[in-house]
Amino acid sequence: MRSVDHLDAILGDARVAGLPVLPIGEGTNVLFAGDYPGLVLRLQLGGVVETPADGDAMTIRAAAGERWPPLVRRTVARDWYGLENLTDIPGSVGAAPIQNIGAYGAELADVLVEVDTYDLADGGRATVAAANCQLGYRSSVFKLQPDRRVVTSVVLRLQPASRAEIRAGYPGVADQLRRLGAGARPTARQLSDAIGQLRAQKLPDPATHPNAGSFFKNPVVAADVYAALHEQSAAPGWPVGDGAVKLSAAWLIEQCGLRGRRWGAVAVSRRHALVLVNEGCRSGQELVAAAAAIRDAVEERFGVRLETEVRVVESEERTSP
Ligand code: NAP
Repeated sequence: MRSVDHLDAILGDARVAGLPVLPIGEGTNVLFAGDYPGLVLRLQLGGVVETPADGDAMTIRAAAGERWPPLVRRTVARDWYGLENLTDIPGSVGAAPIQNIGAYGAELADVLVEVDTYDLADGGRATVAAANCQLGYRSSVFKLQPDRRVVTSVVLRLQPASRAEIRAGYPGVADQLRRLGAGARPTARQLSDAIGQLRAQKLPDPATHPNAGSFFKNPVVAADVYAALHEQSAAPGWPVGDGAVKLSAAWLIEQCGLRGRRWGAVAVSRRHALVLVNEGCRSGQELVAAAAAIRDAVEERFGVRLETEVRVVESEERTSP
């Protein structure tokens, strides 16, 4: 699907009337547990427009079908700040607001201005301000109400060096910047290079070892639950406001001895315990079963239930967020 008018034409076709519709970008965060009994819409809308904004900022409108990593490269090459910590996250631009992509202490919400949408029920087009997108930790109104609206483009606001907020506090980032010879105010390109190198060191490459990145979300628990857990196991945690604490799902999985564990052709990556690698399984069900085994092991040991970050699409109409 290469234009919004094309969407009108497809959805108006009598052959798809009444079918459920599943919009996807590059499919990098989707696991098909079986055949989907409806229409899968692959969004390939293209185009990026840059417009200078007030206060020396830059506004970028990018169509949903653009790939995210080249968009980041394009902005850091001009030394525009805002996307550098989100370097090399696989997937399309349109998928970015769905789960408010985040990495290394930054998230899309930091730079998102608005989102253009297409309503699958009536073809209505709307622009939703970021404040109305209910952006949360790997979540948004589009994820909470799946498949009601298609994101057709996003508008981002990026800052020049003089106004940039540098986020280099995550483990390894400062060391990597030093290795790259960066000073106290690294360029957007240096930050992006540092993040890209860290990701390449830690994460299996989906091109050679098929995977969907982090399979589970980091669980967020109440402060008293965290205190008990920390006493029992020294689990790391980070306060996320309202007394809640974010745990590391990778750490929990690793403590269960599951790093490198395999179930047939599915394995927990040896490089990163949050990544499930498909080493030739023939059905999404094999991955679903492995994920269930991991979830059960973590729940039994720590009393914390992991939720998938990856969207698991069942073979019935029901889909799990
Ligand atoms: P890491 O540095 O080994 O840390 C493990 C977890 O601890 C991360 O998930 C991170 O949470 C949390 N964490 C670490 N330092 C933190 C801090 N200073 N403040 C708050 N939380 C902190 O992480 P990693 O696995 O190598 O990943 C690095 C970053 O890339 C993370 O932000 C991660 O989310 C992101 N990433 C995302 C995907 C994906 O598929 N979505 C895949 C790989 C990596 P957060 O995840 O909330 O940041």
